[in-house]
Amino acid sequence: MLLSLFGLVAILSACSRGTDAGPKAFFQVASQIKTAPSPSPEGTVAPLPHIDAKRAFQYTREVTAFGERYMGNENHKKLERYIIDHLKGDQVEDDAFTADTVEGKFPVRNIIAKFPGTKDGIIVIMGHYDTNYWLRGTGYVGANDGGSSTAILLEYANQLRGAKSGDGSGKKRDGYSVWLVWTDGEEAVKTWSDTDSLYGTRHLAEKWEKDGTLKKIKALIVMDMIGDADLDIQRNTSGAAWLLDLIYAAAERLGYQSHFYAMQGSIEDDHLPFMKRGVPTADVIDLDYGYNNVFHHTPQDTMDKLSPNSLQIAGDTILETVHMLDQR
Ligand code: ZN
Repeated sequence: MLLSLFGLVAILSACSRGTDAGPKAFFQVASQIKTAPSPSPEGTVAPLPHIDAKRAFQYTREVTAFGERYMGNENHKKLERYIIDHLKGDQVEDDAFTADTVEGKFPVRNIIAKFPGTKDGIIVIMGHYDTNYWLRGTGYVGANDGGSSTAILLEYANQLRGAKSGDGSGKKRDGYSVWLVWTDGEEAVKTWSDTDSLYGTRHLAEKWEKDGTLKKIKALIVMDMIGDADLDIQRNTSGAAWLLDLIYAAAERLGYQSHFYAMQGSIEDDHLPFMKRGVPTADVIDLDYGYNNVFHHTPQDTMDKLSPNSLQIAGDTILETVHMLDQR
């Protein structure tokens, strides 16, 4: 993803940087954070969700253990199989194509798992599973950047699968349909730009525009780099304000608000191709990874920097956001 200049305090590049000097991130302190809206309608307050963070952390460990997972390499293929293997019995679709890049052609494969709901409309949750081609051969494993996002979606599949059937009858979840998308080719192959980034989501947004899916999406939430033990999710102002506020309200309900929105800025990520087409989007990201973001896109992005508690915080919050969206 890419940070852009914002206000007086500069927010500098992140995913955009190739092999140049270490990325830096400065954020502006968020000044106006709205308080949570009043609780959901009378008597309908559901129990607060709690994902199995230990299991999600184990997924992160296993995904990271594959090593470098850039588009088209053998580890990437192994991870594709790993994801699919964890979605047995679910409704799974592929969005596969060949991307033409400055480094040549690469196979790209977005993996979509659909959990049908009783309400008309779709909530999409996305996270990328690729690592950077330009970091190949450096030992880069992307535990947080790529690993945590893959893992949280796998855990969501468990949660949604449970909520769906309960009695094993395979009935729909009580609310909107939820689609989980493991996105591919989020990272640049060389240097972040409009044409060298977001390969998978640019393709998927175009496809969903043509087939009418975009019109059915009530909210699209991207999760990226949510495993940092020192979790401070920025308010990425590139997104729908009401959805960003709703996420904060969900965090407040869970008592997690101190991990949200202390800083804000504009960050480019997988939500962009959808946002540009009018879909309400939010990018949940902690792009302050180590002092001055020093672990980002370096071989230091390893499991020892992460914590199950951070997956718990981010995971519960977005699941509660889904429940709040269901009630709208
Ligand atoms: Zn990245």
